[in-house]
Amino acid sequence: MELACLDLEGVLIPEIWIAFAEETGIEELKATTRDIPDYDVLMKQRLRILDEHGLTLPQIQETIAKLSPLPGAIEFTDWLRERFQLVILSDTFYEFAAPLMAQLGFPTLLCHRLETDENGRITDYTLRQRDPKRQSVRAFQLLNYRVIAAGDSYNDTTMLAQAEQGILFHAPQNVIEEFPQFPAVHTYEDLKKEFLAASNRNLSL
Ligand SMILES: [Mg+2]
Repeated sequence: MELACLDLEGVLIPEIWIAFAEETGIEELKATTRDIPDYDVLMKQRLRILDEHGLTLPQIQETIAKLSPLPGAIEFTDWLRERFQLVILSDTFYEFAAPLMAQLGFPTLLCHRLETDENGRITDYTLRQRDPKRQSVRAFQLLNYRVIAAGDSYNDTTMLAQAEQGILFHAPQNVIEEFPQFPAVHTYEDLKKEFLAASNRNLSL
């Protein structure tokens, strides 16, 4: 049995925090793990900025709902789901991803959760576990699935290494150079071909 695991941001949808920063004009929200490698420090800063601007979860969700999946992502997801069981492994939060997942037809998503108070203010966040993408792949392998995984960034590389086959998609050049063991592609058409090549079944485009 085979399972496809996909990263979400940068693969199927835009980077939510960057798109949200552009939508709201709040420049400080553009910081990512590339600027602040400690995810806890980064998230605390993001929540502080949201508070300073008085932004509550419903307002944020309204803005996120105006975003769209990347061009071709819906068609690609449909194609993949006809051929593989699909699980999306992401470091985003269910509450942020929900409006975009609706546009993708709500594929299975394993990610993290935000905590809010009765006024919708985001008070904290809960990370599901450490190294969640790799741990998920390990768990699927224990269930006798062969895993083919694709992602675009550093936080995907342990998942790609754990999978029977890892694929870099839309990855920046430095990641491609640092991880030459993974094939690197930039279009959904090429990504489809990599999934077919990695499969041990006789699938076709
Ligand atoms: Mg990503």
